[in-house]
Amino acid sequence: MNIAQWLAASGRLHPHAPALLNGTRVEADYAAFARRAASIGAGLKRDFGIAPGDRVALFMSNSTQYLECLYAVWWIGAAVIPINAKLHAREAAWICDNAGSMLALVDDDSAAALSAVMEDLPDAMQMLSVDSAGYRLLQHDDGGTPEPLPCDDHDLAWLFYTSGTTGRPKGVMLSHANLVAMSLCYLSDVDQVSREDAVLYAAPISHGAGLYNFIHVRMAARHVVPESGGFDANEVLTLGRELNHVAMFAAPTMVRRLVDAAKKRGEIGEGLRTIVYGGGPMYLADIRDAIAVMGQRFVQIYGQGESPMTITSLPRSWHADTDHPRYLERLASVGTAQSVMQVRITGADGQPLPAGETGEIEAKGPVVMLGYWDNDKANAETLQDGWLRTGDVGHLDADGFLTLSDRSKDVIISGGTNIYPREVEEALLTHPDVHEVSAIGVPDPEWGEIVVACVVREPGSTIDDAALDSHCLSAIARFKRPKRYVFLDALPKNNYGKVLKTELRERMKE
Ligand code: AMP
Repeated sequence: MNIAQWLAASGRLHPHAPALLNGTRVEADYAAFARRAASIGAGLKRDFGIAPGDRVALFMSNSTQYLECLYAVWWIGAAVIPINAKLHAREAAWICDNAGSMLALVDDDSAAALSAVMEDLPDAMQMLSVDSAGYRLLQHDDGGTPEPLPCDDHDLAWLFYTSGTTGRPKGVMLSHANLVAMSLCYLSDVDQVSREDAVLYAAPISHGAGLYNFIHVRMAARHVVPESGGFDANEVLTLGRELNHVAMFAAPTMVRRLVDAAKKRGEIGEGLRTIVYGGGPMYLADIRDAIAVMGQRFVQIYGQGESPMTITSLPRSWHADTDHPRYLERLASVGTAQSVMQVRITGADGQPLPAGETGEIEAKGPVVMLGYWDNDKANAETLQDGWLRTGDVGHLDADGFLTLSDRSKDVIISGGTNIYPREVEEALLTHPDVHEVSAIGVPDPEWGEIVVACVVREPGSTIDDAALDSHCLSAIARFKRPKRYVFLDALPKNNYGKVLKTELRERMKE
């Protein structure tokens, strides 16, 4: 099926339900949303020659038009390439070229940025800005078919380029069936959705937050783009109060900022029904603080572009099960396999390991990507017998709870022993003077690698190596303690807020 059928159905069944909101202002109901998708799609076909199977890049900031454009492209059987608006135009151009994009849907800012790197863009690629008069005409010309073009379950729908904390990004091919399976898991493993709900896009629609649009379209819920277009903790808290029944995806750094803002305002996140977090490690100290300040509104997911939002989840019931003897262990985990997924741990020989043993995390199921775009080598390395090798390291317990240690390339091998940076980071973060920390391995003639902790102190703190060392001694094995501390003003992060360990390692070499 074509996933855009969900929009067509909601347009028919709930025509007057509010669909697209800018802040609290309703811009379109479901009838208008579906009509716009159909007529913009017809325009893309007629004026730009977009045919089924073509790839269309979306390179723009969050807006309600973003959602119209996604569905317009699917309506005519083409596929989207969602590109984070914060990428450099050269990086975006590289992606467009690699994917053979026929058209880029942009806003005026990103159009200007792309125009400056014209020589890097594919020759055949055209551009259409959602800020243009031409786009507004398409939005309202009432053309288009009442139903999206039927397509095959395995047709390409979403070609997403991995954030590439190392090397060139790879294009992850997701089919309509992948997106449907992922979306249905939301209902079984993450949260309920009804027409009363509002999904808030405070993180880029091009990434995880945007992938939660589907189930909210299916259930005819509201789609809210904050007026700031991005993440502003105070704006989110205010929108929660105004809109009520809000669900949002937030990276762990966003959760921390929300918690800080809620504390300052003396609020608990009223109206924010569900905050789904994931995409990077949530430290135990942080989630406990978040629950203490904001209460039980958190759900964790673990996934990756290659199996988006859907490998495991830790629903709110486990966050609330404080009497369980292994409560803290579970809270520090990423939960259990989502309904349609299988998860296993394999050793260096590729064979499955028993519960309790640490190895590479592998996942299998209908959410796992079709493969990487035009990259046989990466496909052969990553997909084996339907199992996705995640490149993450962790272990399962006897009940199936998965605990992540680290990305395999981040594991530090010191004196022949594996040290998982996450453990060191968790320990340091329990110190009240440590605001953020990232532990990395730095080459060392004696040990092979040593643990170096890159620490961002709390404002005003002057804590030093010695104090942190004695703190670590009280929490983790001696050999895991950082041999060096480096104090930084901020940790380098990519556009999705993930700490760039590669960059930290480079800096330390210098
Ligand atoms: P991306 O493909 O950019 O979404 O990055 C996926 C990677 O982020 C995963 O392979 C993990 O290393 C990390 N990640 C995702 N979710 C979590 C989580 N809940 N806890 C820790 N790390 C996570």
